[in-house]
Amino acid sequence: MTTSIQFDNSYGRLPGEFYTRQHPVAVAEPRLVRLNRSLADSLGIDPDWLSSKAGCLLLAGNSLPAEADPLACVYAGDQFGRFNPKLGDGRALLIGEVIAQDGERYDLQLKGSGKTPYSRGGDGRSPLGPVLREFIVSEAMHALGVPTTRSLAAVCSGESVFRQEALPGAVLCRVARSHIRFGTVQFFAACENFSAVKQLVEYVIDRHYPESRTADNPVHALFKAVIKQQAKLIASWQLVGFIHGVMNTDNMLLSGETVDYGPCAFMDAFRADAVFSSIDHGGRYAYRNQPGIAHWNLGRLLQAALPLLDHKSEAGLNLAQGLLDEFEPAFSDAYTSGLGAKFGLEETQQGDIDLTSEFLVLLSREQGDFTLAFRRLADLVAPESEEPNVGELFEFSEAYQSWLKRWKARSASDSRDPRSRQRAMYAVNPSFIPRNHLIEAAIHAAVTENDFGRFHSLVDVLSDPFSYRPQLAGYAMAPRQEEVVHQTFCGT
Ligand code: AMP
Ligand code: MG
Repeated sequence: MTTSIQFDNSYGRLPGEFYTRQHPVAVAEPRLVRLNRSLADSLGIDPDWLSSKAGCLLLAGNSLPAEADPLACVYAGDQFGRFNPKLGDGRALLIGEVIAQDGERYDLQLKGSGKTPYSRGGDGRSPLGPVLREFIVSEAMHALGVPTTRSLAAVCSGESVFRQEALPGAVLCRVARSHIRFGTVQFFAACENFSAVKQLVEYVIDRHYPESRTADNPVHALFKAVIKQQAKLIASWQLVGFIHGVMNTDNMLLSGETVDYGPCAFMDAFRADAVFSSIDHGGRYAYRNQPGIAHWNLGRLLQAALPLLDHKSEAGLNLAQGLLDEFEPAFSDAYTSGLGAKFGLEETQQGDIDLTSEFLVLLSREQGDFTLAFRRLADLVAPESEEPNVGELFEFSEAYQSWLKRWKARSASDSRDPRSRQRAMYAVNPSFIPRNHLIEAAIHAAVTENDFGRFHSLVDVLSDPFSYRPQLAGYAMAPRQEEVVHQTFCGT
């Protein structure tokens, strides 16, 4: 078979203990739901070929070219604070790697491609709903500028998947800079296989952090970079109101990309303690806990890699503690400067932290919509501008007026003219986010009526989140009381 995908597989050159070679289990009737043509292009894969019959067979896992090297990767993970020493790709397979137009190496993974040795009683399949959900949210996150895995294609399997009921099945083709999780390091540490930990760490340095190689202690430099990436990632989640929902260490990537869109959500009304995940009973992964949990996860990662930091345990511990202490300031820097930009404040001045925190307190008290409130602030910076604004969707009530006065006074010291300040604010305060009620409606229409129109429109709108288009107001609007979604499900 000829293929339009030039695979160049490196993970499969690591020793066999890192994975199990495994072919996908073919599905009955693959049908392409959506191909991400621009992503295919950037990966150097011909989108016309990918949407052909042969491409669809590949995306479903029914027929892989000889150059593919399908693997189920092994990993461990702290799940809600409890360590599980053996997890792994239970319903996903790495089918191979490609070098994209940007020169970077990317994994292609099929999710929902059948049982593997790590399925632990699961069926290795995915219902259509979670596949569409991951497609919508991951692509929206990308457009919002958040580092994330991407969705190349969604394919209906033509088979039923049994959960509480029979549901249509699907396969997602996911793209990531790699799928190496904190839990991958933890797996080998838990087996006390430190030569494997070392091999993995070397691989991660070469693939993701090659600049660490020349440092005095490359492993130390690697984790320093990982911590910085993680701090930036979590800050970018907080700034768009994204709640991951399952921040287990097996769902955190060393590359610093967001992965595993299960019971995640964007909040509508601002609440620091917002939790949506149906499985997060104690609120461990609530919005405000995300930075603290990331820090805890990094602690678990460093604990697993301790002997590599320094062979003497005391020295290793000191190095690890020093590294962990870098997370908080790195997060604060990224968050504070990002938040300042959302408020249109050029550089941080004394009093800014109080000013911006007071806004969030007000927003929480008034149950104001997080996304629209910031977008409306941007409108107010240059009210005479011709740009379409969201005034019909959100207006600040009386309760905000004294705060607005102080913010305007503070803004007066900004050297930029109002129009350029507004442009800068529009560029960081989206109008369109993947709102829970819109995702639910898109999934419902697809699953119950085989109608993918809403799904396609939603993905299209979210690909351009920062420019407000009044004719698309329905996508920007906060949910009405009866539309509010309070819980999200992983559904796998
Ligand atoms: P998650 O909660 O989605 O991060 O998944 C946790 C673990 O459960 C991973 O090892 C998954 O591969 C596995 N898993 C989730 N769903 C399934 C399924 N339907 N079949 C087999 N394994 C699964
Ligand atoms: Mg996972």
